[in-house]
Amino acid sequence: MTRLRFAPSPTGFLHVGNARLALINWLTARKEGGEMILRLDDTDEERSTVEFAEAIQEDLKWLGLDWSELKKQSDRSDAYTAAFETLKTAGRIYPCYETGEELDYKRKRQLARKLPPIYDRAALNLTEEDKAKFEAEGRKPHWRFKLEQVVIRWEDMVRGTVEVDGASMSDPVLIRSDGRPLYHMPSVVDDIDFEISHVIRGEDHVSNTALHIQIFEALGARVPTFGHIPLLTGPGGEPLSKREGSQSLREMRENGIEAMALNSLLARLGTSDNVEIRHTLADIVAGFDITHFSRAAAKFDPAELSNLNAKLLHELEWTEVKDRIAIDGADEAFWLAIRGNLTTLKDAKDWWQVVTGPMTPVVEDADFLNTAADLLPEGEITTDSWKSWTTAIKEKTGAKGKALFMPLRLALTGRPHGPEMNNLLPLIGRENILARLSGQTD
Ligand code: GLU
Repeated sequence: MTRLRFAPSPTGFLHVGNARLALINWLTARKEGGEMILRLDDTDEERSTVEFAEAIQEDLKWLGLDWSELKKQSDRSDAYTAAFETLKTAGRIYPCYETGEELDYKRKRQLARKLPPIYDRAALNLTEEDKAKFEAEGRKPHWRFKLEQVVIRWEDMVRGTVEVDGASMSDPVLIRSDGRPLYHMPSVVDDIDFEISHVIRGEDHVSNTALHIQIFEALGARVPTFGHIPLLTGPGGEPLSKREGSQSLREMRENGIEAMALNSLLARLGTSDNVEIRHTLADIVAGFDITHFSRAAAKFDPAELSNLNAKLLHELEWTEVKDRIAIDGADEAFWLAIRGNLTTLKDAKDWWQVVTGPMTPVVEDADFLNTAADLLPEGEITTDSWKSWTTAIKEKTGAKGKALFMPLRLALTGRPHGPEMNNLLPLIGRENILARLSGQTD
């Protein structure tokens, strides 16, 4: 069974980089006929909140990404304790008593001597008496995983063959001196227990993966397949900061970004495939291939997203928006008339106001508009009325081009640009057309 996981920490709102990883995990699961679970990495009690955990789920639902199970690391301390005991029995973890300052001092000395700042494993040489002395001083141990100093190798779904020299890394701390596990061990234990077949995460986790592979092996588990996605940068190559609100999914949603515009962009950004508008996630699955991601960082440009958003709206059918448009009385004719002028769906409300009023006409030449009013075709106003009406006005007044159309547009819509007048005319209706031509606010 193909099982993936999206594993955010509920310490903030999801941002565009998280959304990209969630989407790539979800698409890979779908493509392989598998499933994705949502794992909340909430072991950091001070920073994790229930509100953020709920917001993450809301944001994923907005994107249309579902999960087969929800797991929380805070529910799993027994499993982590058991893994700790297994590693301890196997001699793969060892207690260390250095304080933060002592470790800092060691690192500085190594750097001054141009040596890599790798933990020197001094704690491996502690005798039982040394340890007892530290304990008597009130020091509590933190626990490090003893890495095998061999080359760690894996076939990465994105990066191809990756090799990391185990000797180039510090033995990672698995358990802090207050007894709480840090990220590594819970992540591996969960991936084992939840039978995760593929771990897809950001490139910033490459060296963690090398550590994790040894932890999987030390726990006697099968090592999953890994894929590391290069990070997103801003349009100029600058790092994307989590703190920048405009990149949070909440803010994008509030700013009128369509989930499918974002999904369409994120599924292709940083790949060899062109970004194309897709209306459904199912349509993205078909053309998705994780091996098409390049190893270079991908640039996320909010302006590109806005353009895609507008392009998507211009294509959307009435059936795709009617439940969301939230305008009483709006119908397909209205939608088809205005969709080409939208940047966000919220703009539809402004056009509804233009169509139904109240609207203050802009009148520059009252006589011209009076003549136009007299020439308005009899009978039902249809999408053909504009053509016959303006032809009649042209014949009578000699006005043509902009001089003909602009006064009418300004009077009927109050603004110089907008949807095609032939589509708007039947929506505005005879009564309001005549009122507006005479300069009245309807
Ligand atoms: N909570 C971790 C993060 O957000 C999870 C990384 C992983 O996918 O293992 O970076």
